Amino acid sequence: YSLSYFNLPLHYRNDLKSVLIPYGFVQDRIEALASRIFDDLHIGMPEQLICMCVLKGGYRFFSDLVSKIQNENRLRSDRSLPMSLEFIRTRSYINDQSSGSLEIIGLGDLNKIKNKNVLIIEDIIDSGITMVTLKEELEKFHPKTIRVASLITKRRKDKKCVFKPDYCGFEVPDHFVVGYALDYNEYFRDLEHICILKESGVTKYKVTPSNQVK
Ligand code: 5GP
Ligand code: MG
Ligand code: MG
Repeated sequence: YSLSYFNLPLHYRNDLKSVLIPYGFVQDRIEALASRIFDDLHIGMPEQLICMCVLKGGYRFFSDLVSKIQNENRLRSDRSLPMSLEFIRTRSYINDQSSGSLEIIGLGDLNKIKNKNVLIIEDIIDSGITMVTLKEELEKFHPKTIRVASLITKRRKDKKCVFKPDYCGFEVPDHFVVGYALDYNEYFRDLEHICILKESGVTKYKVTPSNQVK
């Protein structure tokens, strides 16, 4: 969509090419996902589903998905889905490329997922390597099941993706996207809509070895 349809923050307006998925559309889609997840996973009641947020990019999707599942719980009197909330952090991207090494923070106290059903809630799957690695790491704690909900997967040109999530919000073309907590070098998380960057934005916020902070 053309930027002219939206109220975009002044500080990002000149760095975006287009709005790919408007915030309202994201909300509608998450509502549908929440209802599907509720129907699929309520069965183990009163056992808690462990909803695992993959920080930082996944935090808005996590927050909206969990509150929409809470809504289902509020509206239904025949069944319910109790949840507990966990947080983990992964980091691999510098600029718009994977750095090749994945850092996972927060695996320390995950013995509590043993014999439990886990739903990993992630922002975006590109090559799929992050998710394959994270799932392998979590398997070491012997959960009963691991399912994955990703807001976005990419339709990659000529390259294949090694991971398919159980729940996916949107499949998008092979562009680097930002907004709704997805970042480019820690910028653009504070943008409502999911957008495509303009070349000027890519350059402006690029990290070079000299300005890199870890
Ligand atoms: P993968 O390991 O599947 O190639 O990459 C997954 C991770 O890379 C995501 O969790 C996300 O942090 C980052 N990533 C991949 N594609 C994009 C993108 O288009 N935009 C943003 N902001 N992050 C991305
Ligand atoms: Mg992520
Ligand atoms: Mg990132």
